[in-house]
Amino acid sequence: MNGALFLLIVNFLIAQLFCVFFLVIAGRSRFPAAARWFAVAFATASLAAIFEMLIRIDDFDRLWAFCAFSSLLLGVYFIRVGIGYIYSFPVNIGGALLLFGVSATVNLAIFDLPRNSWTHALGYQLPFFVVEVVSALAVYRSGRKAVADRTLMILLLLTGLHFLSKSYFAVMMAGADAQAYLSTVYALVSQSLGAILVVSTGLTLLAVIVVEIMDEAKFRSEVDPLSCLLNRRGFFERVNQVLARPIAAFPHCVVLVDIDHFKTVNDTYGHFAGDQVIVRLAQTLLEQAPADAICARLGGEEFAVFLPSTGDATGYLYAQAVRGNFSAHKFAGMPDDVRLTASFGVCIMRDAREPIDTILHLADKALYEAKRNGRNRVVRANQAGRDSVAYLTRQVSA
Ligand code: GH3
Ligand code: MG
Ligand code: MG
Repeated sequence: MNGALFLLIVNFLIAQLFCVFFLVIAGRSRFPAAARWFAVAFATASLAAIFEMLIRIDDFDRLWAFCAFSSLLLGVYFIRVGIGYIYSFPVNIGGALLLFGVSATVNLAIFDLPRNSWTHALGYQLPFFVVEVVSALAVYRSGRKAVADRTLMILLLLTGLHFLSKSYFAVMMAGADAQAYLSTVYALVSQSLGAILVVSTGLTLLAVIVVEIMDEAKFRSEVDPLSCLLNRRGFFERVNQVLARPIAAFPHCVVLVDIDHFKTVNDTYGHFAGDQVIVRLAQTLLEQAPADAICARLGGEEFAVFLPSTGDATGYLYAQAVRGNFSAHKFAGMPDDVRLTASFGVCIMRDAREPIDTILHLADKALYEAKRNGRNRVVRANQAGRDSVAYLTRQVSA
């Protein structure tokens, strides 16, 4: 067995492995169709290795050479289809069919030309180059710029250039016909470079999908599915990100919100109606909030909003705007004259020495005050006596 033949077998097995990987991962991805197209792509492209071997041991050179060409080209096409699903850039089917038709016709027409002629070399390799560049463009035009996206784009371009360079090396180094090809140094170099590019493209496509699966899992673990706001974990994660920024300008403001008499809402109108009230309050919190606000449902009918670089007065106005808007809303399925209300506690974080837990505690005390004073109101945390760090430390250790 010579080196080129050995590498064909290696290419075949690697492509089969990738096919299995993509099938396994498809069920977990948000883009199952993409993963399945990648699996089909690798399965189809792996056939090229078998056809190339058949060229050696059979008399039907022309047929097997055409099959090898077509299966590899189809594999590259299918990768482009999968990329279309991930990067919202569908394949232009008319253009794809036309290119495939022209490429296949040219391939049949050039079979009898010497492999080391420019016409044969370019006629064979150009379609691959075009599809790889179109795939790279699809990634580029999506505007997605994560490391995996950029790596994929670069690899697609490199693979395209690899196909183009193959025509040059074919002219310089290849044998004159299909059978002679496999015993040349060119075939060995070409197959090993091909193997490297198959592995790196396959790994990068896997990385793109795995990163997407991880992002999705993180999103699910940090977002409350009913209100679509962050949950408690997501809230603390984002707040700590803001606090870790060296340029985050103090004070920051925390607003705690609790729906009034919510248990009665559930008892009177049912749990589903209660859920609609939660959704409405979440919408109001978002609508009134500035773009950089961190809005969360901490649990049940309790919400928190972190307003970065916002003072006491602005935080108070925000809470009043939400309170007014929410208490004016008429809920479907409830009598016309029924209006619901919420109570608010507002507290600012004045500097980095004040832990977020302490600020939430102070906002909660203010919220409790609002409840005690008759609900449907905003109360600001008592600033008196907060100046000393000792006070805050006492709060934390209490
Ligand atoms: P207060 O004005 O003092 O805040 O009274 P409240 O009735 O709002 O407070 P309480 O803590 O007694 O009741 C909260 C209720 O919220 C009890 C619970 O059944 C309900 N609840 C918690 N989570 C959900 C939810 O996801 N959906 C619905 N519909 N109800 C929920
Ligand atoms: Mg409550
Ligand atoms: Mg309540």
